[in-house]
Formats: sequence, C-alpha cells, structure tokens
Amino acid sequence: ALLYRVDGWGAPYFTVNSNGDVSVRPHGASTLSHQEIDLFKVVKKASDPKNSGGLGLQLPLIVRFPDILKDRLESLQSAFDFAIQSQGYDAHYQGVYPVKCNQDKFVVEDIVKFGSGFRFGLEAGSKPELLLAMSSLCYGSPEALLVCNGFKDVEYIALALLARKLHLNTVIVLEQEEELDIVIDVSKKLGVRPVIGLRAKLRTKHSGHFGSTSGEKGKFGLTTTQILRVVKKLEQNEMLDCMQLLHFHIGSQIPSTALLADGVGEAAQIYSELVRLGACMRVIDIGGGLGIDYDGSKSPNSDVSVSYTLEEYAAAVVGAVRLVCDRKGIKHPVICSESGRAIVSHHSILVFEAVSASSHDSPQFQSPPGIEYFEEQLSDDARADYRNLCAAGVRGEYENCLLYAEQLKQRCVEQFKEGSLNMEQLAEVDGFCELVSKAIGLSDDPVRTYHMNLSVFTSIPDFWGFGQLFPLIPIHRLDEKPVVRGILSDLTCDSDGKIDKFIGGESSLPLHKLDANGSGNGDRAAYYLGMFLGGAYEEALGGVHNLFGGPSVVRVSQSNSPHGFAVTRAVPGPTCGDVLRVMQYEPELMFQTLKHRIEEFADDGGSSSLALANGLACSFNNMPYLASAASCSLTAAGA
Ligand code: PLP
Repeated sequence: ALLYRVDGWGAPYFTVNSNGDVSVRPHGASTLSHQEIDLFKVVKKASDPKNSGGLGLQLPLIVRFPDILKDRLESLQSAFDFAIQSQGYDAHYQGVYPVKCNQDKFVVEDIVKFGSGFRFGLEAGSKPELLLAMSSLCYGSPEALLVCNGFKDVEYIALALLARKLHLNTVIVLEQEEELDIVIDVSKKLGVRPVIGLRAKLRTKHSGHFGSTSGEKGKFGLTTTQILRVVKKLEQNEMLDCMQLLHFHIGSQIPSTALLADGVGEAAQIYSELVRLGACMRVIDIGGGLGIDYDGSKSPNSDVSVSYTLEEYAAAVVGAVRLVCDRKGIKHPVICSESGRAIVSHHSILVFEAVSASSHDSPQFQSPPGIEYFEEQLSDDARADYRNLCAAGVRGEYENCLLYAEQLKQRCVEQFKEGSLNMEQLAEVDGFCELVSKAIGLSDDPVRTYHMNLSVFTSIPDFWGFGQLFPLIPIHRLDEKPVVRGILSDLTCDSDGKIDKFIGGESSLPLHKLDANGSGNGDRAAYYLGMFLGGAYEEALGGVHNLFGGPSVVRVSQSNSPHGFAVTRAVPGPTCGDVLRVMQYEPELMFQTLKHRIEEFADDGGSSSLALANGLACSFNNMPYLASAASCSLTAAGA
C-alpha cells in the first residue's frame, strides 16, 4: 500500500486488506470493517465463467460503487452545510451535477435519487444532455435546479423553456450575448417566463492545465460591457426580474483555496452589482473546479493534486461570498456549485488484465564464434569494428566496447538492407552486441513492457490527450513484493497506446512477475490492475480506436452475502458487431456474405459449414478485447 501511495489518493475509499487485495470502503470514513468489499473477489465473480459461478463477463471491466457516489454527494453537502452554519451565512447550498462528467443513465439517476433530500440538481451543456437531465429530474426534488449551460441555438432554448413549463426549475445561462435575443423572442412566442442566468468572464485566471479557458481572454462567458448591455436589454423588454443567477467557471482542478476565494470574491462583486442594477438575483453558481488528489501529494503545484479538503473548499466559498455581500449590505444568495470530478471520480474503477510481459532472457547465441563463421562476409569497416571491439574488451576499455558495438550493429543493419547479410546473421550480431552491453552492465534495461487487455484511447483518453495521471495499481498480490518494474502497453496498434508515466513522477510501475501457472489468459494466473479515480470524463470521452469498444460494467453494493457484496447489475461491453455498426457496417449483412462464402469454399470434409458459421457468429457476438482461454469463441464453436 505504501509503495503505491494508496493511503494518499485512496482515502477514505480504498485500502489494502490482509489478503493483499484492494479493499473498497463504500461508505467512506464511516465504513465498518465488515462492510469492506474485496475488489479482487468482485472481479473474479464478474469474470469467472458462468459454469463456475461467475457472470462470464469479459475484461476490461468497470466496477461501479453507487454507495461511493452517495457518500461523495453527502460529504459535499455536509461540508457546505457546516460552513454555512459556522459562518452564520443566511442562505443554503444546493449543488448541481454536470452530466458531461459521466452521462451514464445509472450514475445520473443515482445522483438525482441520493441528492433529492437536499435539492441536488443537474447541469446540461447540450441538447441531448438537457433531454436526459429533464427526464431524470422528473424523479428529483421539485426545487432542484436544472442549469442550462453551453452554446445555445433556438432549439436548445425552446427545449429549456419547455422544461420550465413542465415545472422543472430550469435556468438558461447566457454563455454568449447573442443568446439573449433568442431567449426573449422564443419565450414570448411560447408564453413562458424564463429564468435567466449569465456566465461572467472573470479576470481571475487559473494557470494550470485545466484553466486554459479561464481569465479575461477565456473562451466562455460575458465581459463586463456585455453584462451591462444584457441588463439594459432585459430592462427594455421588462424582463430584468428574469435575471436571477450569476455563473462562472474558472476551470477544473482549482489548485488552492486562495485562487478559489479570489475568483468567488470577484464573482460576488459582479453579483452585487447586478443586484444594484435591479436584477432579481437569487443564486451564485460557482461552476466546477473542486479538485481531487490523484497522486496523494496534496500539492497545489501539481495538476493532479489539490491542497484542500472538501470542508476547506466550502469554507472558502461561503466566506468569500459572505464578505462581499455583507460589505454591500445585500441578501446572501443561494450558493450552487457544479462539481463533477469531485462527485463521480471515486465511484468507478477500471479493471484490466496483463496478458503478457516482455522478458529479458539471455541472448541465444554462441559468442564470439557465432559471428566468426561469417566474419569474412562483414564489410571491411564492420570487420574492423568487430576486431577492435574484441581487443578493447581484452584491455578492459568498456566505453570503447560500447562504441564499437554500436557501430558494428549499424553497419550490419546496412549490410542486411543491401542483402549481404541474412536474418540469422543479423540476429547473431544483435545478440552479441546485447551481450556486450549486459557484460558491461550499462544497458540491461530492467523495465519490462506489460501488455494489457485494454485500449488507452478508449478507456483513459485524458492520459493520451494531455498526460493526465491516474493511480494505477495491481488490485491483488499486494502482500507480495513487486520484483520488476514495467510500463503498460495496450492492444492498439498505435505507439501512443502505452502508459509510461505514473503518479509520483515515476516512469515505470513496480509490478509482480506474471505467474506461469494458473487460470488466466492461456495458462497463466490472471494478473489484474485497476485504474482508480477515473469515474469523471474518461467514460464520456472514449472513442473506438482500433474498434475496441468500451468495457463491461458491473454495479456493486455492499450486502450480507458471504462475500459481503452483491452485483446489482452486469452489462457486457459492446460486441464486435456493435462497434462495427458504429462505423456504418451492417453485421447481419456481413455475416450473410461470409456465410455464403463458407458454404461455397469451406466444406473440406474436416469441419462442417455449420461449425464454421457458428464460430463466425460468435466472433460478431463477442467483445473485441482478448478473450480468456475459457471463453474463446472458436473453441466453443469447434466443440
Ligand atoms: N461546469 C462547467 C461550466 C464546466 O465547464 C465544467 C468542466 O470543466 C464543470 C462544471 C465541471 O467541472 P469539475 O469536473 O472540475 O467539477
């Protein structure tokens, strides 16, 4: 646990148990020891074949813990409740969840359900997001806010007005000045009185990666001049009472409460000016940005960490709003936040399996006689390098040995390209040079490449896109000392499909040797790793690179069963047919075409057309990832 900093990034939800497995504490700090869930056992249950009591799901696998979502929401709410109470603040907090962070139906429905007791709402940034938020909030608190952000057209605004008509507490937040004309026009046509908010472009700038859209030159929001024009136009249309909410967002992962208080203070000034100008202001919506600690360092200087707790975050927000409002003598507004990352990151874990690891076996060659038999075929320069190398070795001039070895290799590659050396000879040269560097002890690279049954592009897109780091650790064997270091390489053909940067500034990960005997892929014992804290953004962004689709998903709750958990939902990942359909193929037609071909050509007496067609059908119906030996479609079809 120490080696992988689990206590730093994992608390209070993840720890390591006495079996050496990652243990999940679904109720956070209030989890009792008998309520802990062994993640390795969950993965076994999900992936073991049906005939041995498992659910037969293929990896990679997302394991969701709705109880963690509940704990995150309740912790956020109580942090604000406490700050409000202890600072004598005269209004309440009611948050919204920005669905862009994870639009999964069950995640959104859980948040609405768990948050309905404290009016928790949703934020949408596009028309489909608004549709899903509208239908989900039908089951939420009637006071829950439905905040409509993002660039808007007539259709988006008409839909938001319809939501208001349906008694959903909808606020249209102006992201651009031009949206106001549409809101005024469409609301008059539909006969709906809108509630309007506006997004202010703050001068406060968050300088980290996630703040690149903040500040005066930021991408979104209205400048001071634009805000004044909006107020005037609303006044002219006798709609200034519709303006009720001020929103801003200075970026995700706000590193410190000092920056946060600066931004909130600036926004509170704008809020109080809007009050002075006659708007019926009620809510200050501070956007997202509540950060989480991916590396456990608690450092404000890192994009992947933050230096504050939930309580400190809430205290800074409440304090900054109160200070400005009290100075100006205005009523304290309702505080809304749009935290996404901080709510959904912890509840889901991506589990994947190592399918093989590169080895560093001793080179299989006879040296130097291995080269001697074709020494005469070497070019004069290469032969000179070879002889100089041997002589330097005798004299103990190791630097020179390496120099000659490098030259020899390059010249031999040239000879191979010209056709004057064959492949076995080139392999002898490679082996010889490797032996030389190993003997000298300089290039015995101890870092291995572990091949993972995963697509980095699909499942960890932020790592590929901008190097976002996540805690990645084996989920079992943690009572065993890892004896090698490795980088993780995925199944895609792309050279970017690898993970070679880890939390703590490491360029490799301590790993265990793959066990040669066992029941995993092929004959090996399975070796599972987990990516933690990836519940926000990663699932929403992933694509279908190399046509590897998304993972299987299970939802797990604590229960009184012997293992202490119950899988309440299990969904296999997309099949080959599903991902082909995304690219406009029609799997049914493809199957028919190939089946005709089977009937035409493949009936060679050995295998029947029927068995081959069954195998083909399985190929369409299985996931694109590597199947474990037990569930391989061809074996099944051939049987
Ligand atoms: N609100 C808005 C307007 C956003 O753009 C974002 C995302 O960056 C969020 C909320 C969610 O932010 P976070 O995940 O940092 O809480």
